[in-house]
Amino acid sequence: MDKPMWLKREAMTRCGHCGERQPVAIAAVGYQCRACATDWRWAVCGNCELVQVAREELEAFVCARCHAVQVAWWKTRHSESIAGMVSERRREDDARRRRVRRAWVAVGGLLLGLALLGLWLAFVGSPGAPG
Ligand SMILES: [Zn+2]
Ligand SMILES: [Zn+2]
Repeated sequence: MDKPMWLKREAMTRCGHCGERQPVAIAAVGYQCRACATDWRWAVCGNCELVQVAREELEAFVCARCHAVQVAWWKTRHSESIAGMVSERRREDDARRRRVRRAWVAVGGLLLGLALLGLWLAFVGSPGAPG
């Protein structure tokens, strides 16, 4: 059976340690930086639900947005079920980002169209002006 598309999709991910950017599958819940070999895990904040990366070696970390202390889920007994949840959240996050990007492209196209219309109206209107 073919995997669903999102399992194959990748997103550029930036290492918080050395800054190296590398593509990581959307479905992955963790990866190792190819430059500095730091292990990273994705986590969903239990308080504000922000999807973020944390160092794999940590037992706990602080949410980048709401500063709530998060227990490293990959070190708990429930890690398998949470991994599925984190993967699902990454996929949702990616889909949302894509929607936002598409919306901006649509707005940009509309503005460009209006600008061109304005230019055209100015051009069409000018020959009639007394000179
Ligand atoms: Zn790195
Ligand atoms: Zn949070």
